[in-house]
Order: sequence, then C-alpha cells, then structure tokens
Amino acid sequence: MEENYKQRGLRNKLVKKLRLKGITDEAVLSAIGKVPRHLFFEDALLNHAYEDKAFPIGEGQTISQPYTVAFQSEKLSIKSGDKVLEVGTGSGYQAAILLEMGAHVYTIEFNRKLYETVRDFLPQLGYRPYFFYGDGSKGIPAKAPFDKIIVTAGAPIVPQALLDQLNENGIMIIPVGNRETQRMIKLTKKGGKILKEEFNQFAFVPLLGESGWSHPK
Ligand code: SAM
Repeated sequence: MEENYKQRGLRNKLVKKLRLKGITDEAVLSAIGKVPRHLFFEDALLNHAYEDKAFPIGEGQTISQPYTVAFQSEKLSIKSGDKVLEVGTGSGYQAAILLEMGAHVYTIEFNRKLYETVRDFLPQLGYRPYFFYGDGSKGIPAKAPFDKIIVTAGAPIVPQALLDQLNENGIMIIPVGNRETQRMIKLTKKGGKILKEEFNQFAFVPLLGESGWSHPK
C-alpha cells in the first residue's frame, strides 16, 4: 500500500512537470496520472520510472519519454471512441495512455519478442488493445481506416500506406527525419487534402520495414 502511495505521489509530480513543459490537454494529463508507469520497468530501473526520460526496455528499444508520449497524444486530439493505430507497441505504455483516454487501440510491433511480452503483460493491467505483429510502416490494411495514427519510431518519410489508411478528418502524428533526430509532423486529412504542421525535434529509435530504414544500425 505504502508503495502505491509513493508511486501515486511520483506520478502527480510528473503530471505537474508536464504541465510546466506546456502540456494542457486534461485528458492526456489525467491518463498519465493513472497509468502505473513503474510496472513497465525492469527492477534495476524502477527508481527512474517517473523521471521525464526515455529508458531501455530490451531488444535495443525504448519506452518513450513521458513528455513525448504526452506531446504526441495531445496533438492527436483523442476523443472517446476514436479508432487509433499505433505503430511501434514497444513497452505498451503509450497504448495504455490511449486506452485510458477512451480510444480503441490497434497496436503493431515489428520485434517478435517485444510483441509477445507486451501481448501477455498489458492485459494483466486491464489494458486490452488489439495486438498485431508485423511491419507497421505498411499499416494494418485489413483494419483500416483509422481516425488517428501515431507512429512512435523515427521514419525517413511519411509512409503512403499510413496516409491511405487515415479517415477523412483523421490525424496522424509521426516523427520524420534521420536515424538520430526527427521533427514531429502532424498531418490532417481534409477534403482529400493533407494539411501539414511541423513541431520541434525529437529523438526516436528508427522505424524499420518497407517505408522505414532498411535495418538496424
Ligand atoms: N510506443 C512505445 C512505448 O510506449 O513504449 C515506444 C516505442 S519505441 C520508441 C519504438 C518501437 O517501434 C520499438 O519497439 C520498435 O521495435 C518498433 N518498430 C520499429 N519499426 C517498426 C515497424 N516497421 N513496425 C512496427 N513497429 C516497429
């Protein structure tokens, strides 16, 4: 119990920090205040769970920094009932945040071990997205269209397949750049056109696959 109390306190501090960094969407902040991020960490890193930093989750991959999760989630303007595609399940933390916000989440991961681990782990916390294994740079054509698409790995280009799978009035948020740093891009589909907004730089692990980088460095 005491442990829970401590973790809740740390989560509240994290939410305050994210507010100071400019996150204003109350639904995003409330979700971050609820999801037990420490349960996504290995024992050795447990003390870092509520720092605003990315951390390794094995297989050379990372759990994204809370600010990044909050920033991407805010830019998607998630409404309860939205059908959301997440490319890059990773630890499952971002999927849990979207589920807390009332979205129906379809999440796809290219690393089989991470896919299997998270598919078994996340439902134990009560979070039940639809899990897929494969190259998410091609989207999930059989489940399209999606109201929102979030890509959580750095892409060299915006994959056309993902644009094709976005609903009218749909929003996609995707980091695009080189292997080290990317600019966050928000794309909105309106009347058959794509409106583009660009934001600050972020540093994600590379998106692999057909419309990603060909192989890990
Ligand atoms: N959203 C995750 C979270 O909340 O922990 C963080 C994702 S991590 C920064 C990027 C993930 O994208 C890695 O797990 C990596 O294996 C995955 N990935 C890379 N290329 C992919 C692809 N083409 N399709 C699906 N997943 C991919």
